[in-house]
Parts: sequence; C-alpha cells; structure tokens
Amino acid sequence: MKKRFYITTPIYYPSAKLHIGHAYCTTLTDVFARYKRLRGFECYFLTGADEHGMKIEKNAAAAGKTPQEFVDGIVEGFYKLWDLLKISNDDFIRTTQERHTKVVQDIFSKMLANDDIYLGKYKGWYCKECEAFWTDTQAGPDHLCPDCGRPVQMAEEEAYFFKTSKYVDSLMKFFDENPKFLVPESRKNEMINTFIKPGLDDLCVSRTSFSWGIPIRENPKHVIYVWLDALTNYITALGYDSDHPELFNKFWQDPECETIHILGADITRFHAIYWPMFLESLGLRKPDREFVHGLLMMKDSKMSKSKGNVVDPYPLVERYGVDAVRYYLTREINFGSDGSFAPELFVERINQDLANALGNLLNRTVSMINKYFDGVVPGYKGRINEVDGNLEDLTKLTIESYERLMDDLKITDAIAQVNELVNRANKYIDETEPWALAKDPEKKANLESVMTHLANSLYVAGMLMKPVLVTASDKLFDQLGVTGDLLNYDKIKQYGIVSGLKVEKKDQLFPRLDAAVEVEYIQSLMANNK
Ligand SMILES: [Zn+2]
Repeated sequence: MKKRFYITTPIYYPSAKLHIGHAYCTTLTDVFARYKRLRGFECYFLTGADEHGMKIEKNAAAAGKTPQEFVDGIVEGFYKLWDLLKISNDDFIRTTQERHTKVVQDIFSKMLANDDIYLGKYKGWYCKECEAFWTDTQAGPDHLCPDCGRPVQMAEEEAYFFKTSKYVDSLMKFFDENPKFLVPESRKNEMINTFIKPGLDDLCVSRTSFSWGIPIRENPKHVIYVWLDALTNYITALGYDSDHPELFNKFWQDPECETIHILGADITRFHAIYWPMFLESLGLRKPDREFVHGLLMMKDSKMSKSKGNVVDPYPLVERYGVDAVRYYLTREINFGSDGSFAPELFVERINQDLANALGNLLNRTVSMINKYFDGVVPGYKGRINEVDGNLEDLTKLTIESYERLMDDLKITDAIAQVNELVNRANKYIDETEPWALAKDPEKKANLESVMTHLANSLYVAGMLMKPVLVTASDKLFDQLGVTGDLLNYDKIKQYGIVSGLKVEKKDQLFPRLDAAVEVEYIQSLMANNK
C-alpha cells in the first residue's frame, strides 16, 4: 500500500456551461479522495480548466469579449458548481495562469533541444471562413466545415511535431510491465489495436492559424497546440520546474505516492499514449493508474451539450440537496461502464435507498432507543438473539469488502455493499420484533441487544457513506450521538463501541419524494435545457 495519493480529473474546456457529465467525473473523483483521507492517507486532489484554443477565441469574439474575459466568466461557474457539490479539491489549475504557461514553454524548449520536437508541415482540411483546420473525421465524407458548414480545402501549414516513433517501443514495454495502468483493461487493447499497431503518426503540437494559446519562445508566431499544453497541467500544478517543487517531489516523483488520473473515454488516447511519452521525454515518472469512466447518457442518446436533453446539475442540487445528487451519480452508474440519467431512476433511488432504507433505519432505531432505553444505547453483550450474529458478521464483512472495492476504484460496488447492510438491518428489525420483546420483562437482554446491534450498523453505514453523503452522514452521527474519538474511521472496527451513546431524534434525513411530481419537474428541467 502506497503512503500518499495524487488524484486528478481532466481539466474541462470552458467553451460552455458544465453539464452533469462533468459533475459525474468530478464527484466520483471527490468520493475517492474523501475515502482516502477518511482512511488517514494524505491525498492531493486536482481539477481545473483547459482555457486555450480556437473555439474559445471564436466564442469570445462572438460574445464581444477578450478570450481571457470570456474564460474568466465561465470558470466562475466551474467554481460555483464544485462548491455546490462540495468538491474537496486541493487546487484548481487554469492553463492561462503563469505557473502553467511559463513551464509549458520550458517543456517545449527542452523537447526541442533534445530533438523530440521538430518543425514540419501540417496537412488538413482548411476552412477559410473559420480559419481552422479539421481532420478527416471532422470534415466527414462531404468535406464540410463542422462549424460553419462551408466546403473545406486540403491545405498545409508549418507546424511542430512530437516524435512519437521514438517512444513507441518503450510505451509497449510500459504497458506490459504495468498491467494495471489502464483500467478497464479492455481500453489497453483498444489503444494498441486502434492506434499503435496501424502505425502512430507524429503528434502535431503547434498551430499558426489562431493565436489564443501559449506562444513558442523560439518561434512566437506558433502557439502550442492542445495536448502538450493541456496534459502538462498535472505536473505544472504541483510546481514542476518551478522554485517550489515540494508538492511535485512529494506527489509525482516519489514512488511512495500513487498517481491516478480519472478521465473520460474520448480522451483516453491522449492520456494513455502521448502523456507517458511526454513524461519519458522529460525523464519523469509515469502515472500509476489511469481510470476511464463511462459515458453518462440521457435516455438513449450519448450525452453532449449539442444533443440537448442534458440535465443541468445546479437546479438538481438546489432542489434535492447535494447528497441526493452525489448518491445517485455514485450508486446508479457503475463507475467504469456507461450509464444513463433518467428522472424516474433518480427519484426511485432517493426514495428507496435514502428515504426508505437509510433514513427509515435511523428513524426507527432512534425512536426505539428513546422509547425503551431513555435515549441511551445499551451495553454490548455479544450475540443474544438468534440473528444477532448474522448482522454482526455482515457488518464486519461489509467493512472489509468496502475497503477492497474502494481501493480498486469500484466505487459503485462498494456503496452497494453498504446498501445491503442497511437493508439487512431493516430486515433484522422485522425478524427480532423489538415491540414484542418490549412487552416481556424477561426479554430485556434481547431487546438491549437488538438496539446495540442496530446502532452499530448505523454507525458503520454512516461512516462508510461519508465520502458520498457529505452532509447526511454528519446528521446521522448527530442523531446517533457519535462524537469525538468515534469519528475516527478505524473505530468502526471495534464492534459494540456505540454502547452508551446518547441518541437524539431530529428531522428526517431524506424526506420521501412524490415520484409523479418530481419526475415531471426533472423532465421540465431537461426540456428547458435543450
Ligand atoms: Zn467554417
């Protein structure tokens, strides 16, 4: 087990407002970071904005703003959304910041000096109107500009290229020696078969057709193009090549730190092929893991802004609370597979898992401890009732499997285990029938045992849910009387430690939603966002 963790989201492109796909990736990364911190590890969590490029330059001009003013406005919205979703990032990098631009210029100079970058000619489909180059795929079979729809012509311009050929063999060796580098593993074969085996072209790393980018010192009519600018954020944010490389040494170069990039499938090629090559060219460590999450779809279409029907995360969080939205994203969409956002499923998840299962378990347990034991959790006496052992064993097993799954980034499965524990505890109430035990003075020990086991299940479930339910877990602890030392994660491993806690009944953790009303409300949000 490594000592420290560095975990990143991709840096998002501020050409438009963020949608729930961005919220999904960032929330899941946040859950992992919070989990590691909860377990007592040092964890550095980075997110940010990728602010250069032709599209920003054009959108800014259309809005009558300078590109910097334009991105400043949009990035304000990024901050707001991450704040609303209680994202616990340690830093936010913007590729227009000097700490980034200066270092990217240095990186370019280094690569140029050691002959990894050379000046050549870039050929592509050119739109005169937009002054933009497009690839074969973008221009399509009719050779039309994807932005303005006008015909494009094959043209060439002077550009710098990164020599990928120099690093292909070493990349293949790296893949072989690090089978867990790219997760899911199918992505590795996809990279090899689709891009490497057919022969990898050198990567174009500069443009002269627009100017909103980092100029190349040696030839300032060129700006550095996309990936060399964007991917390097992961090290510039840590102070690579600066006067303060402490974080970089601690969270990147030290083999005791595990470096994890979370990313979407559309950018896997750049992260899995070019990024390790850039790092090797600079003589730096490569990341330990790259985790590719699936696409979040709306009903039956792939989710992207242009296709409409995208749900805006802001009103969703405002109406249902941060925990409900974080829970849905974590639990409903298997991390690593494609998933979908459907209003019916969203409401059902909240009602079933949060209101009926977890909220109800807390409500019933606190009420009974109040009623039968004046609000104090009875002392732990072991396994008195026939099913006590069953619940106790499951609680211990849940902690073990949760940790194993979380460490492996199987976040959805880990949370599903906690759900099962909560469901088991609710069933345990029906099996032990505490209301019947309460009528028989000779069954006092049985009743005490039921209350202790229930309180213990809630204590464990509350702790394991903490990375996801960032406010409701604290409310649960508050009602259960969990304070001080018991707030340390490792205490959940001492079964029965909840004895003596003073419970206090407060508001429902998650009020039950009226399904018909809420589904209609969310559908209207989606329709308005088209
Ligand atoms: Zn055009």
